Amino acid sequence: MIKVENLYKQFGDNEVLKGITTNINSGEVVSIIGPSGSGKSTFLRCINLLEVPTKGTISIDGQSITDKNTNILKVRQQIGMVFQHFNLFPHLNVLDNLTYAPIKVKGETRQVAEEKARNLLAKVGLTEKEKAFPSNLSGGQKQRVAIARALAMEPNLMLFDEPTSALDPEMVKEVLNVMKDLAKSGMTMAIVTHEMGFAREVADRVLFLDGGVLLEDASPAEFFSNPKTARAKDFLEKVL
Ligand code: ADP
Ligand code: MG
Repeated sequence: MIKVENLYKQFGDNEVLKGITTNINSGEVVSIIGPSGSGKSTFLRCINLLEVPTKGTISIDGQSITDKNTNILKVRQQIGMVFQHFNLFPHLNVLDNLTYAPIKVKGETRQVAEEKARNLLAKVGLTEKEKAFPSNLSGGQKQRVAIARALAMEPNLMLFDEPTSALDPEMVKEVLNVMKDLAKSGMTMAIVTHEMGFAREVADRVLFLDGGVLLEDASPAEFFSNPKTARAKDFLEKVL
């Protein structure tokens, strides 16, 4: 589904991604792991063109998104993204957070958008919060709303950038459980995470980035029990 070939990204003199090549298949759940500053977020942001690659190509469903003629907005509509810091619309209640883009961008009627939004809120366990404002929700609830909001656009692919890193420990699980359900439903997912247990259990594949280089691309079983590189071994010893 996603084909990344020889992807480079440079910020000024800082070469952050140094020739990454990998594929993500439809329905696959890929965890992206690596030390801070290794380029994980930049890699994810290149996939939906929040960052423009310096070199290399990315295609989604056979369509090159790095081609200058590609309609970026159209590409982005198919990709949901969830960030560490939720980024909900603070002035809109939960239901309106979910219906805003489907109405504005996709031209759905309010009635249809609200019906879908309520289904999604039920899935993430927040039916009773539809009239609440983000400031009155816990971190875990906010992140579940953020996931539901991304899903409201009916994406083919979901990108997560450390979705649980800003949460109090007791709220991590409720968010991971929502992501687990989503993975089971067949959604294609790329997840930057420090939750090694989750990566091991839920991911089909692990990408280990270090210094902008994809050092390992393996199944979780292989990666966690038998990492090939000294760098990954060292990293795992520190985090496990
Ligand atoms: P990670 O998510 O693995 O912690 P990032 O992709 O956020 O790593 O960052 C990798 C490197 O790129 C870091 O050195 C960071 O300072 C740099 N970087 C990231 N985004 C920008 C940006 N918008 N402008 C300049 N440098 C950036
Ligand atoms: Mg990051």
